[in-house]
Amino acid sequence: MDPLHEEDLSPVKGLTHMYPDRVLLFSNHECSVYCRHCMRGRKVSDSTERMETADLELCFDYIRNHPEISDVVISGGDPLNLSDSKIDWILENLEKIPHVKICRLGTRNPVTLPMRITNDLCKIIESHNTDHLSIFCNTQFNHEKECTPEAKEAILKLLKAGVSVGNQCVILKGINDDGETMLRLHRKLLELRIRAYYMYDPELIPGSRGFRTPLAKGIQIIEYMRGKVAGMGIPQFVNDLPGGGGKVNLGPNWYLGFHKPSRNHVFRSAVRGTYHLSPEPLDSEYEEFYPEISEDTWSKLLQNSYSAFKGLGPLGEPGK
Ligand code: SF4
Repeated sequence: MDPLHEEDLSPVKGLTHMYPDRVLLFSNHECSVYCRHCMRGRKVSDSTERMETADLELCFDYIRNHPEISDVVISGGDPLNLSDSKIDWILENLEKIPHVKICRLGTRNPVTLPMRITNDLCKIIESHNTDHLSIFCNTQFNHEKECTPEAKEAILKLLKAGVSVGNQCVILKGINDDGETMLRLHRKLLELRIRAYYMYDPELIPGSRGFRTPLAKGIQIIEYMRGKVAGMGIPQFVNDLPGGGGKVNLGPNWYLGFHKPSRNHVFRSAVRGTYHLSPEPLDSEYEEFYPEISEDTWSKLLQNSYSAFKGLGPLGEPGK
């Protein structure tokens, strides 16, 4: 099953072109572990999907002929399961395409096979991480138990090669589907110098049903985390729309609306649950853009709200 319709969006074998400036290049279909929640389960470990050198060359031709593509995500499978020489060859090809500026390696090996991140591999990556091509890595830690000393060592090697590392986790029912577990994971990731990137719902694929959680869980997780860890430790909760619609962000609604007569926006604080007012610029012509709050709501909130003129004190102390 192909929930994101990646195959329909493939102009050549092994390449998905969903967003105008980005492509997803499937370099191989082998992994160090086989995750039951994998949305690419249909391809992973399937020998008929194998990407031969000629297939990859056709992908490079497509990218070369599309100057709007500036960003190539190399995924699979796990691209870091390829040999050093093949990785070198792929990066070299991308580096030679003038309009390709960014390359993102999607790999779980820092988690699942951290010893694969060798000094030799990092030297190869670093040699292509140049003024012309910026290399990023997105990995997938789903639980703090995966943040092992070996994983930390692997991440440090990638960082020393100039590779910025982000994490894309998946909400898994009964494993990490609560705010505290996700908070502990993301605090641990920051200790490993990994920034939070995305948090996904598992896609609807055969075998994933037991892992799926209500959409509300993801929103509640973000609501719980906000204010308890620095922003760079809070992932964006995204839904990759079935049918190839791309990603959309979901989150708690901290914005209550706009009070037109006083030209104030009303927010709820993520840290304290208090209400706060922020004025719209006087010369703004965007009043119609905002959802309006009623006079009734406004009058209830006003006496208990804070603004540039009336602020809160340190946590646990009354305001001034
Ligand atoms: S490592 Fe990634 S591509 Fe491989 S099975 Fe797991 S989620 Fe899928």
